[in-house]
Amino acid sequence: MTPTPDTAPTVQDRLRAAQPCLWTNPGRQAEVPPRLSVGTATVGVDDMQSAVARFGRFAGLLAELFPELQASGGVIESPLVAAPALGQPLGLDAEQGALWVKCDHLLPVAGSIKARGGIHEVLEFAETLALQHGLVAPGGDYRALARPEARALLGRYQVAVGSTGNLGLSIGVAASSLGFRAAVHMSADAKEWKKERLRRRGVEVVEHAGDYEQAVAAGRAQAASDPFCHFVDDERSLSLLQGYSAAAPALQRQLAAAGITVDAMHPLFVYLPCGVGGAPAGITFGLRQVLGPHVHCFFAEPVQSPCFLAQMLAGPHDHPSVYDWGLSNQTEADGLAVPRASLLAASLMHPLLSGVYTVQDATLFQHLALAHDTQQLRIEPSAAAGFSGPGMLTGTLAGCAWLRAQGLEAHLPRATHLAWTTGGLFVPDTEYDRFLQRGREATSR
Ligand SMILES: *Cc1c(COP(=O)(O)O)cnc(C)c1O
Repeated sequence: MTPTPDTAPTVQDRLRAAQPCLWTNPGRQAEVPPRLSVGTATVGVDDMQSAVARFGRFAGLLAELFPELQASGGVIESPLVAAPALGQPLGLDAEQGALWVKCDHLLPVAGSIKARGGIHEVLEFAETLALQHGLVAPGGDYRALARPEARALLGRYQVAVGSTGNLGLSIGVAASSLGFRAAVHMSADAKEWKKERLRRRGVEVVEHAGDYEQAVAAGRAQAASDPFCHFVDDERSLSLLQGYSAAAPALQRQLAAAGITVDAMHPLFVYLPCGVGGAPAGITFGLRQVLGPHVHCFFAEPVQSPCFLAQMLAGPHDHPSVYDWGLSNQTEADGLAVPRASLLAASLMHPLLSGVYTVQDATLFQHLALAHDTQQLRIEPSAAAGFSGPGMLTGTLAGCAWLRAQGLEAHLPRATHLAWTTGGLFVPDTEYDRFLQRGREATSR
């Protein structure tokens, strides 16, 4: 039965009932102002470019520190691939656009999208110290930082972070490889193999019984009392956002190389899994800067952890948690199990974001298995959240109404749908096989 308009459940009803839903952003602006406010600061296109330049300055050093980066000359990037066999099972027919995947699940060093923001912030901290202490000259060769005296100096400092897992992996690995001491405060939902991987690298893993937000608070408090400790603050960091935004110029080049046009006749829809919001917000910020009004970014969250959607509904003067909505924050998508969004990310997204949708865990596993069986993509559950995007836009009342209102319906046949797969490279085989099994069982039922 199709609900009549006056009895149709609202986004709020569905959010509270942990049912998948799509919210579209009435505050989105087609034109991006040159600078945007984020909390008390502002960010502009120059911040994105400075992150790109910083990665460039460190490339030689990174190629030396990480054997897996030798082939790329120290560039940390992921492929953009067409996924024609996956579009149709996700509900996209031939007249509704082509499905592509941005494979951040293959990002080297960190194995997730956190390679972008997390490594950027560690590099920025190292660069500040190196210039301060004369370890490198401005414009000099940063490979000097691999020398024992440089490492000894950086070793006097600690880098700390609170994480559900993947950010800890990225910060811990990047920091320890530069010679820093590293401490990762892990929430109860962090997976055991992620803790093990860090300990093997000599990273101190501090386990907390509480959720992500409590792990961050504990780490932040400990770091505040130590002048030799830099705390990577996932809820408040501009450096993380900047690092994520550097993905945009790289994607722009990949789109051009693949012959994909983005303009009024050729819209691009990007589906980004969202935890606290920093990664998808940084990328959305960058994409809106380089691609303009015809890129539409949507965030994807688990039905039990829709903190970003709750924040967008609440507006800037409130900071709700998913518990306030009667939700549990329990999800197998450990990278997305966050109860309260980053206010920084939410304020930045107000004029830029097209929408947010939610996904059930069972669907994440089904899509994880589909991605494997049709396109041989090996991703973690969090990274599957983007695959619900095409169906949400083209197969729901809310999605179709939005497409019509935006005048996008007629352009769908030439549209590109881009699912951003955000993690998976280092998931152990035994763990991955369980995910796959679960996804296939859900599909055959
Ligand atoms: C961290 C993470 C995200 C989302 O990033 P946030 O900055 O927390 O929003 C998405 N997918 C995976 C696999 C992640 O680890």
